[in-house]
Amino acid sequence: MKYVDEYRQPHLVRTLSDALHKITTKPWTIMEVCGGQTHSIAKFGLHALLPKSLRLIHGPGCPVCVTPIHLIDHALHIAAQPNTILCSFGDMLRVPGSHTNLLSMKAKGSDIRIVHSPLESVHIAKHNPHKQVILFAVGFETTAPANAMAVYQAKQLELKNFFLLASHVLVPPAMQCILDSPDNEVQAFLAAGHVCTITGYRDYHALAKTYKTPIVVTGFEPVDILQGLYLCVQQLENNACYVENQYQRSVQEQGNLHTQSLLNTVFKIVDRQWRGIGRISSSGLGLQDPYADYDAAIQFPIETPLTCRDNGCISGLILQGKKRPNECPLFGKQCTPENPLGAPMVSTEGACSAYYQYSTLRAPYHGE
Ligand code: SF4
Repeated sequence: MKYVDEYRQPHLVRTLSDALHKITTKPWTIMEVCGGQTHSIAKFGLHALLPKSLRLIHGPGCPVCVTPIHLIDHALHIAAQPNTILCSFGDMLRVPGSHTNLLSMKAKGSDIRIVHSPLESVHIAKHNPHKQVILFAVGFETTAPANAMAVYQAKQLELKNFFLLASHVLVPPAMQCILDSPDNEVQAFLAAGHVCTITGYRDYHALAKTYKTPIVVTGFEPVDILQGLYLCVQQLENNACYVENQYQRSVQEQGNLHTQSLLNTVFKIVDRQWRGIGRISSSGLGLQDPYADYDAAIQFPIETPLTCRDNGCISGLILQGKKRPNECPLFGKQCTPENPLGAPMVSTEGACSAYYQYSTLRAPYHGE
């Protein structure tokens, strides 16, 4: 079977799967926070290797998916202005706004450019001094450093035509929001390894203790995920709740201090709106006051908030792990990767796209 026969360490995968079966005596529900982990689970058919009583639910860790529709509308509004160049990573272009998407606007002639690094947009601004260049900066703690560096460089170069439309969000407040929900089912988390590479995992100790929830910082290979699950189940079975680091080859407890210093120079913590979830306090990053001149939200305000039509997309429930993509009535019918009705079907980290691409997850889940 493709991918399943291609494990890089099949022996370790089998050993971990056997060990998980051995220690699991009760039903447990574990959330993998990151969309990259969801895709690995789907791509490598990992759920088929788990004990039947172990249930995985997919978390909100897809940056494109959690970007609120009003910010997509704001980017569309900016792209429609004369004399502007909007720079974005490619996967934002097909995410639906209220009425259209950036790809359609690009096709109609707006100057929208796909960049592979935020620093490319600084380069574009430098070489187009008569245009306003706006970087649509979306993502978690992982993408924030490169966007921070873009703003930092623009300031060093004294560029007056470079701006950031920031929609950065932070993982720990979203995990807390899930745990605070009255119908929360999550009993343990696989935390996102790449996020912790930047931030470390000091913030997670209080979360694990307060909510009595094991948190295991976990990578993205099949062996990483199975080991992360093993460590979660081991804690759950022993009534323990602390933070463990499975992804030791990349993550240190204090994280990357140089990067954190850059982030703190350019960004401050702000409240943010999450698509389908709502406002979460202190859950995002906005520009610090000395960088306010680079804030596209200030320089290109939207006069009237645009309204959003209800197209039946239940991405809010998907992002909170309350529904699976194949429980959405539109999944695979009206909503496909070619015609996405919501961000989770567009993004390479979206749960709906994972279910669509890899049939391993579309079969009924254990116990369903
Ligand atoms: S399948 Fe499409 S419409 Fe349904 S939740 Fe996913 S993105 Fe939204």
